[in-house]
Amino acid sequence: MINVTKPFLPPLDDYISLLQDIWERNWLTNNGPVLNELELKLKEYLKVPHILVLSNGTIALQIAIKALDLKGEIITTPFSYIASTSSIAWENCKPVFVDIDESTLNINPELIEAAITDKTSAILATHVFGNPCDIYKIQSIAKKHKLSVIYDASHCFGVSYENESVFLYGDVSTTSFHSTKLFHTVEGGALFSVDPDLIKRMAYMRNFGHKTYEEFECVGINGKNSELHAAIGLLNLKYIDSILETRKEQHTLYNDALEPLKVKRPVINKNCKWNFSYYPIIFDTEELLLKSLKDLNENWIYPRRYFYPSLSTLEYVDKYEVPICDSISKRIMCLPLYHTLKKQDIDFIARILLRTQNY
Ligand SMILES: *Cc1c(COP(=O)(O)O)cnc(C)c1O
Repeated sequence: MINVTKPFLPPLDDYISLLQDIWERNWLTNNGPVLNELELKLKEYLKVPHILVLSNGTIALQIAIKALDLKGEIITTPFSYIASTSSIAWENCKPVFVDIDESTLNINPELIEAAITDKTSAILATHVFGNPCDIYKIQSIAKKHKLSVIYDASHCFGVSYENESVFLYGDVSTTSFHSTKLFHTVEGGALFSVDPDLIKRMAYMRNFGHKTYEEFECVGINGKNSELHAAIGLLNLKYIDSILETRKEQHTLYNDALEPLKVKRPVINKNCKWNFSYYPIIFDTEELLLKSLKDLNENWIYPRRYFYPSLSTLEYVDKYEVPICDSISKRIMCLPLYHTLKKQDIDFIARILLRTQNY
């Protein structure tokens, strides 16, 4: 069976050796030494001034919204994983959808201003498949209208924008270290900001608002991650360059094998160094996608329809006209991509896709 993704796992013996230290210390969570080391190593690797490692990427979004004290309407994209919209609703704000750009699949900045009202407090945009949004345009709109910007950068590990980590952009950037992501800690996530005061506030929020054992700085939640998760992260980080390199090679293999197939792929932002994290293909019609999916499934190959359905179809959000997103979300899927995926697997997947379309 070939699944859309398969988590990377470091050698078990290396993990056991870290577990032995954890057992000896008997310190399992609450910002222990392994988690601290992971934060330090990630800061160095990503070249960011601050990072807060959390228990998942969704709590990162919720803490970002809370720490920026957002109220009312938040402009966001309907083409993302559900967490980017559900966290807005969970924090009692209203998601306002703006349609996406057909070529980048990111929120279309040209349409943002028309959606701004006197209730708008922020823009929450996803760098879809690790492809950075039009950051400068979004920044200038936010500045003009005094809005906060949160980037859901869950797909962006290793992506740089103008030679800096993409995590440095926006008032806050969030990411996910879930097992399905390129870099993972089994479950996990992180918050980034270049504003030290905001980082401080979010650090309190991650730990129930505790200032000392008995004093509380602000309202908080439990967003901490454990030593056991951090240990997996530390080990995975040792392999990240090889993972990134392999992803790039696998992309080239897919590109070559699928060359005759007339499918579209997103246009990657010219100002970035991408991480090749996903291999999305856009079919001309949903019929063709369904036919291809059926043929692949019959051969035990399971791509995923990321992102389908469009978040604009959710029951708990207001309706907005987002025709591009409605159309793309019905015609796009991500092909299998993970560290151990072989050339012969890629060739096999490509042959089935070509056969389905009579090439
Ligand atoms: C994975 C993902 C999340 C959620 O992260 P978790 O760590 O699973 O909570 C949020 N947004 C996007 C775009 C994602 O892909």
